[in-house]
Amino acid sequence: MTKRLPFTKEQIQELSKKHPTPFYIYDEAGIRQTARELVENFSWNEGFKQYFAVKATPNPAILEIVKEEGSGADCSSLPELQLSERAGITGENIMFSSNDTPRDEFVKARKLGAIINLDDIRHIEFLEKSAGLPKILSFRYNPGPLRGGNRIIGNPAEAKFGMTKEQVLESYAIAKKKGIKRFGLHTMLVSNELREDYFVETARMLFSLAHEVREKAGVELEFINLGGGLGISYRPEEKSIDIKAISAGIRELYEDAVHKNLMAPTKIFTEYGRYITGPHGYLVSTVRHIKETYKKYVGLDASMANLMRPAMYGAYHYITVLGKENEPKNQIYDVVGSLCENNDKFAIDRKLPEMEPEDIVVFHDAGAHGHAMGFNYNGKLRSAEFLMSADGQLKMIRRAETSEDYFATLKF
Ligand SMILES: *Cc1c(COP(=O)(O)O)cnc(C)c1O
Repeated sequence: MTKRLPFTKEQIQELSKKHPTPFYIYDEAGIRQTARELVENFSWNEGFKQYFAVKATPNPAILEIVKEEGSGADCSSLPELQLSERAGITGENIMFSSNDTPRDEFVKARKLGAIINLDDIRHIEFLEKSAGLPKILSFRYNPGPLRGGNRIIGNPAEAKFGMTKEQVLESYAIAKKKGIKRFGLHTMLVSNELREDYFVETARMLFSLAHEVREKAGVELEFINLGGGLGISYRPEEKSIDIKAISAGIRELYEDAVHKNLMAPTKIFTEYGRYITGPHGYLVSTVRHIKETYKKYVGLDASMANLMRPAMYGAYHYITVLGKENEPKNQIYDVVGSLCENNDKFAIDRKLPEMEPEDIVVFHDAGAHGHAMGFNYNGKLRSAEFLMSADGQLKMIRRAETSEDYFATLKF
């Protein structure tokens, strides 16, 4: 099975004459379509809103696109708040879902009028002292060992995020006593999850908790935030997650809960990152050397500093070798970068066509948590990012770092 590309080898060769690889390309039309389909599928819910997880692809050009498709921004740091502001996303179009939060971030979130989602019961007082209490407040729930998480986030009971049910209930009571009248509820338990059921069950858990919040704290929720974590099919044989099925499953539970008057009508929020941009971003790199020792290596001009996921958690990214799409994959290679770290491998024992220096390789599904996770170890510089518009034009939306950027914080 293969994966397709929205650009041609000729386009990449043309671009790389002026801008050497490695670089990222994002497909604007694809991002818009995915963002639009999400909103359409949840249109049954009055007030539905998606908050794009800024950490997935923190570039103002991307934020402006998702904003145009009706999305807000999910932020968890001061620079992410500033980025959203500069991309024109402010007020309650920002969800501030941080943890171990410093004072100045609460201050900035309050100044922007963002919805603040607290990770801990003690943060109510900390927020009050740091920045004053807002009119609307949300709490992050962690259900503990009841439910299985997944590989990236793990068992919720071992996760540092959110609070216990008792703490959540008490938080509403405390905040209500302090005069807050508008409330939300949040959870986020998995990452890159492909089972539709899982998201429906999360909604069931939250709707049931909403009922308890009403009964025990006397609070009606204005919104329920289902978090992020929707998976994408990195492997060509994996099926794509069915957003229609997720939406329909949640709708059934929602209508039942509202019909039985277990909870008031409430807005559904999501914080998807990977699902929106992941499949629509590509890392383009050139083969520098082929090496044969105990194994065969393809050495690239990109390294795990450009795309960390494979080295960090063995993540799979499909590879296309431009112009060799139809050649037999009769070679077994480790595809590696140039870091002085042995885990700097994009793929291990991958079947690929016979390769040679100057071949151009493309890593698929790198549009989320790709460039964003980049780092400078070993003096590696972050790459440029390009946006491909619907008419195939490639526009630079971030230049490549230079050595001077790398030295900018040093004193010689
Ligand atoms: C990372 C994160 C998201 C987005 O996760 P995806 O897997 O990209 O959908 C959403 N909400 C919170 C609180 C997060 O930390």
